[in-house]
Amino acid sequence: MKFESYSFAPEILRALTECGYESMTPIQQQAIPPVRRGQDVLASAQTGTGKTAAFVLPLLQRMLDEPKVRVSGQPRALILAPTRELVAQVAANAKDYAKHLDIESISLIGGVKTTSQASKLRRGADIVVATPGRLAEHIAQGNISLAQIEFLVLDEADRMLDMGFINEINKVRHLANANCQTLMFSATFSGGVRQLAQQILKKPKVITA
Ligand code: AMP
Repeated sequence: MKFESYSFAPEILRALTECGYESMTPIQQQAIPPVRRGQDVLASAQTGTGKTAAFVLPLLQRMLDEPKVRVSGQPRALILAPTRELVAQVAANAKDYAKHLDIESISLIGGVKTTSQASKLRRGADIVVATPGRLAEHIAQGNISLAQIEFLVLDEADRMLDMGFINEINKVRHLANANCQTLMFSATFSGGVRQLAQQILKKPKVITA
């Protein structure tokens, strides 16, 4: 299946051509339609399957379908991932896919001072990709509000739970707009992942690629 069949904006299609993508991977074929419809998704997907594009591309398109003015400290999309490396990779992919769009992504990771991240948040970002720990610090410092979040993605949810981030995830859930569309990607559907999915997803499309 080609990306052209999903009526993505020409700017997204151009970016995908520049990335060298021709057809969708199986997880992309399964996840893109429900995400574009606005449905919650629970997907089992390993790294290397193209899972990042499976959630980033339809989110970009949904943001384009309903353009909004960028507001300081209030992103539209929040993507949580377990490690600095994964956050950096997801943010780099989001920047690549959005390079012909006016959609800004930033990453929030530990190991560097919060000040430069805080000033990027103040300038405004549409998509924030973060580790749970560093996000919690920015919330505590009042640098970010989740009240306007429309899209929440938990990437590698099983690893985030294994690393003990359940409290941070619960906090995000309580602070985020209750109507937001939520997507969970996980290599395994462990008991913890199922329980979390039950608590935070509304009638999800379940995908096992
Ligand atoms: P991920 O599973 O998201 O880490 O992606 C694994 C690799 O596949 C990354 O290098 C992506 O750039 C690449 N990729 C994702 N989707 C496609 C696609 N449809 N065609 C070719 N490569 C892709």
